[in-house]
Amino acid sequence: MLKKCIIPAMRVSVAIPAYNEETVLPELLRRVGKVLDSIPGGPHEIIVVNDGSADRTGEILRKASQDDARIAGIVFSRNFGHQAALAAALDHAAGDVVIMMDGDLQDPPEIIPQFLGKYAEGNDVVYARRVGRKEAWWLRLCYHTFYRLLGRLSGTELPLDAGDFGLMSRRVVDEIRRMPEPHRYLRGLRSWVGFRQAGIPVERAQRYAGEPKYNLTKLFKLAADAIFSFSVVPLRFAAIVGMGAICLCGIYTLYALYIKLIHGETPQGFTALIVSITFLAGVQLFFMGIVGEYVGRLFGASKSRPLYIIADKFGGLSGAPSVAQPRPAGEAVRL
Ligand code: UDP
Ligand code: MG
Repeated sequence: MLKKCIIPAMRVSVAIPAYNEETVLPELLRRVGKVLDSIPGGPHEIIVVNDGSADRTGEILRKASQDDARIAGIVFSRNFGHQAALAAALDHAAGDVVIMMDGDLQDPPEIIPQFLGKYAEGNDVVYARRVGRKEAWWLRLCYHTFYRLLGRLSGTELPLDAGDFGLMSRRVVDEIRRMPEPHRYLRGLRSWVGFRQAGIPVERAQRYAGEPKYNLTKLFKLAADAIFSFSVVPLRFAAIVGMGAICLCGIYTLYALYIKLIHGETPQGFTALIVSITFLAGVQLFFMGIVGEYVGRLFGASKSRPLYIIADKFGGLSGAPSVAQPRPAGEAVRL
């Protein structure tokens, strides 16, 4: 799997969200640390965000950061979710490049040198294209359909089957940090930024240990964030369906008039009436729900609450060196 590539000396930050990952964390830190050993330049850092874990993740992380100066920890005041955890890591990363990866070893850290090789070729974003997923067939089918649907719906070109695992250059990270939206779909924002982006095929491993933290509800929420923050097509779709309904109604009126005036009969149609009323009521409620999604998101954005709250930090966090827009001081970062 490992390919030889030329890596320039640079400073690498690895951003990892962790939620109840006590069974994976030691092995994860060992493997990421080993990969970083082989990368010239530095000092590199591994920023693990403890997203309100209830197990020994925090303890293990603190101990690891005492033993290895490259490991830093950010502890959230509660569980804020994977995307918020990644955002916090990006806010504190000081590297010339930042690697985002999951904390369950589904993203093999040994690929990082290949990311750096592509970066050295002039790409600002290098993402892993997932090939050979090892999840259940129905989940794979859901992912497949979702990525293609999203590709169609969004105006932004989103790479198919790309997860968060990947590299971003400092300027891409800085641009993403300037984005104020609270419902974040990082891999989409990353594409939206632009510059030169490249994907490399990476086989997605199985979770090393422990239970998946994304249940179907969370996955659905992420999918909704992706669709509703990258596309207004669902809204437009309401108008198209409405137009269709008006046309059908017009055709039926002409037919009814024809029967009445030419044949002198009134078309029977009690069942058709009930079916069309309930159907149209359903369509209307459905699209009200879609509009509600957008209104809800506006509501969330208008409150402008911080995306996460930090309870504690440790390890050698030097903070991000540059960001185009200053942030308010304090632990809670307003995004
Ligand atoms: N995660 C997190 N907060 C959450 C849910 C997940 O920080 O509320 C982290 C989790 O620890 C893991 C990564 O996000 O490092 C991906 O989660 P998981 O492996 O459960 O997702 P899946 O692989 O099923 O998409
Ligand atoms: Mg996983």
